[in-house]
Amino acid sequence: MATLFVTGGAGFIGSNFIRYWLSTHPNDSVVNYDSLTYAGNLDSLRDVERAYADRYTFHQGNIGNLELTSRLFEKHKPDYVVNFAAESHNSRAVVDPGLFFETNVMGTQSLLQAAVDTGVPRFHHISTCEVYGDLPLDSDAKFSETSPYLPRTPYNASKASADLAVRAYHETFDLPITISNCSNNYGPYQFPEKLIPHFTIRVLENEEMTLYKSSRNKREWLHVIDHCKAIELILKDGRIGETYNVGSGVEVDIETVADTILSILDLDASFKIYVPDRPGHDRRYLLDCSKIRGELGWEPEFQFEEGFKETVLWYKDNREWWEPLLTRLQVDEGKWG
Ligand code: NAD
Repeated sequence: MATLFVTGGAGFIGSNFIRYWLSTHPNDSVVNYDSLTYAGNLDSLRDVERAYADRYTFHQGNIGNLELTSRLFEKHKPDYVVNFAAESHNSRAVVDPGLFFETNVMGTQSLLQAAVDTGVPRFHHISTCEVYGDLPLDSDAKFSETSPYLPRTPYNASKASADLAVRAYHETFDLPITISNCSNNYGPYQFPEKLIPHFTIRVLENEEMTLYKSSRNKREWLHVIDHCKAIELILKDGRIGETYNVGSGVEVDIETVADTILSILDLDASFKIYVPDRPGHDRRYLLDCSKIRGELGWEPEFQFEEGFKETVLWYKDNREWWEPLLTRLQVDEGKWG
């Protein structure tokens, strides 16, 4: 019977994680702590509120609020803190970098401090493959957990800095931490600024898909539930102080993502237009995941083609979820350069 304190649980991965955890751990409770930025959306958890009312609690608050997080840690005595909370959109970081350092670095540091002050027994931090920098399109290289941190954008740099803070709190204050660095996630409840929902929703609204000119840049696509299962294994059997890469090994370029969405929705290529790249647009990342596969026996279960189609159709069928979010979009992806 464990209590999880999940930060950023009203976002894409956090809300999927809470649903996954409560449905597979019938004796556990989850406290969701989220400041509800433009990307936070409690509508993503209405079914969870109904199905697990006795085991699910929501508190609105900022991870940077040391006094409030310390008080809530004292009150709920979590067995695990899982930190998803972040500013997560690379494009927005180009126009408002300061916010990313404030939330992702100083916010994480404050949360770590509250965890040390109140004796949290386990702190798991969610990070990204993007801390390692990018790879050439045509190389055989992969990033392992010991690859150097070479971030190229304010978002990536803020996540890299947060990882270093997490490690420092382990080394200096003995906080029992783990970190996971995962590749691009896809699945339901992703904010419409991100690539797959963005392209899908644009064409469902009869608008053009704005592909960055370097449309052969690739991403490694991981279904969000495969990510949740990796976090579950790390919480259970991961070694304290360690970092685990989490990726599917399936790389698909942006042009193919766009073409596949059009083909699933039975639309033609005239929806595609090309716009200048966002500054610092990374070419490619690929993770070496032999550590989590070998140590913890993790394997991604979703086949990309199937999971991708299901995801695109989820956005087609759940207009009432995303329609109210369109007024919250922060960046015009067609206006770089
Ligand atoms: P998201 O933007 O959908 O959700 C972020 C959530 O954090 C929102 O609910 C927001 O309200 C909340 N939040 C933001 N600032 C906060 C603050 N100061 N205090 C409390 N809550 C705050 O992001 P996501 O895609 O779900 O990503 C979750 C985590 O996973 C992030 O740390 C991100 O860096 C990491 N990650 C995401 C991906 C991906 O493909 N989405 C890949 C690798 C790593």
